[in-house]
Amino acid sequence: MSERKRKFWGWGWEGEGLNPDELKLLEPVWAKRLGVSQFEVTAPPQAAEIELRPSRISIPSTLAGVCTTDHFERLAHSYGRSFPDSVRIFQRDFSNPPDVIAFPRVEQDIVDVLDWCENAGAAAVPFGGGSSVVGGVEPPGSGFYQATVSIDLRNLNQVIEIDPVSEAARIQAGTYGPSLEAQLKPSGLTLRHFPQSFEFSTLGGWIATRSGGHFATLHTHIDELVESLRVVTPRGIVETRRLPGDGAGPSADRLFIGSEGIFGIITEAWMRLRKRPGFRAAASVTFADFYKAGDAVRVISQSGLYPANCRLLDAQEAGFAGAGDGQHAVLVLAFESADHPIDGWMNRALEICGDHGGEWDRSALEKPDSHREGAAGAWRNAFLRACYLRENLVPRGVISDTFETAITWERFADFHSNVKDEVHQVISEVTGNRAWVTCRFTHVYPDGPAPYFTFVSMGDKKRLLDQFHTIKQAASEALIRHGGTITHHHAVGRMHRPQYDLQRPELFADALRAAKREFDPKWMLNPGVLIDR
Ligand SMILES: Cc1cc2nc3c(=O)[nH]c(=O)nc-3n(C[C@H](O)[C@H](O)[C@H](O)COP(=O)(O)OP(=O)(O)OC[C@H]3O[C@@H](n4cnc5c(N)ncnc54)[C@H](O)[C@@H]3O)c2cc1C
Repeated sequence: MSERKRKFWGWGWEGEGLNPDELKLLEPVWAKRLGVSQFEVTAPPQAAEIELRPSRISIPSTLAGVCTTDHFERLAHSYGRSFPDSVRIFQRDFSNPPDVIAFPRVEQDIVDVLDWCENAGAAAVPFGGGSSVVGGVEPPGSGFYQATVSIDLRNLNQVIEIDPVSEAARIQAGTYGPSLEAQLKPSGLTLRHFPQSFEFSTLGGWIATRSGGHFATLHTHIDELVESLRVVTPRGIVETRRLPGDGAGPSADRLFIGSEGIFGIITEAWMRLRKRPGFRAAASVTFADFYKAGDAVRVISQSGLYPANCRLLDAQEAGFAGAGDGQHAVLVLAFESADHPIDGWMNRALEICGDHGGEWDRSALEKPDSHREGAAGAWRNAFLRACYLRENLVPRGVISDTFETAITWERFADFHSNVKDEVHQVISEVTGNRAWVTCRFTHVYPDGPAPYFTFVSMGDKKRLLDQFHTIKQAASEALIRHGGTITHHHAVGRMHRPQYDLQRPELFADALRAAKREFDPKWMLNPGVLIDR
């Protein structure tokens, strides 16, 4: 039987995605929403039709078992999964592929590959699941480096050790989400970090990008779940101590968490686990007014209740996801515990919603699987299938992307309306077509929400990249100008660099550059990401 392969041009496994029946249902909905009668669809590229620049570097015989210049692998490691990545893929533009792909099997292989890159003047780009949406895994532009070696961690895929007493596990960085949870399952413990990209992203990628996961409150980012790290840098190995807490100076872990591969390659981590939840309650609450719903979420986030899920969708977004009528904002609320019933917590959260004009279906609360039904279930299903939308919208010429941020509560309402209006206006100007800009909260904190915006409009296939870049730049500038962050959890990569540079204090940039010089004196790891030479 042939080994199943990931699509090099889209999400997931070859042969999987939205099926023709789903597309038959979705196409007319998209057409109506975008104001077009029909779509002209570009077929996905075939590996054989793409000619790649010959590899510019020879693999030394000592690394022949770990490295390859295989055509398919070079295609599959050329891009992440952002909108502009997808446009270039459908345009068959693979003009800057990595020259070699390394698949280290043990940590020493990484040391050897980095040594080789250093001597050969090659850039080394760590590659987890390749789900970056910010240009985190593509080769740097040509110029300074002789070649690019993409280092794919997929063979470092084991949960090595589980400590059931302290509820933690030592896990290799290349472990994908489903395999990680499957290996933990017999222990009754779970990491419970579920980014939307869970199926095709890795522990190392989550840590390197400070990924945001399942929990809408408290342990929102992977940061809180990292107990210690092991990192291979060009200057040697850094391993931190397993500690439940630590006040000894600035945190070494925190320097590597979110470093997007510029200091070293994370090879394993001790991760904090928890028992699998047995008690669950979910509800969806509708509000006539999005800002009133926001007030309810603020009071819940400041109440000490800490719901696992507290995702507020504006009316349009709820309508698109099949979770609402398109007229009302919907709050998807859930509590979970491995230890105790959580009905009291849910009742109090609903009381708060009621105080702010929220309404909910009490009968749905009685059902044990309520988190899989009703608006909560509809939203969950749409959330999981959404990963496959991009590879169907781009070939139809639709501009559709997201941008996410965080802002303190006292500025939220103005921030939201200004950003939404400005982005809406620029899309209308750029495309000349109907534009949709919707918003939801992915995570919430006592001092503010993390709003996540989605925009959609019909683009011009011949100018799709330019149109996108104009919109993206306006959106990114609006986030910074109105006081937000350029990213709450999607990372910086190459795409968010201009605004990250504005947001980050300049002296801190100097300190990052100094750390880079210590860990990576030849400046070969993931150039262009976070800082420049
Ligand atoms: C459909 C979709 C949904 C998404 N949903 C979410 C979401 O819910 N939450 C969220 O936070 N993000 C989300 N993302 C973004 C992306 O999945 C995350 O950034 C994720 O953490 C990347 O993991 P990865 O293993 O795919 O890493 P990659 O994309 O392979 O790499 C990301 C960055 O980390 C570096 N890197 C990877 N592995 C290592 C390592 N072992 N050591 C050092 N550096 C390394 C790479 O060089 C790169 O700079 C989504 C993306 C898509 C396409």
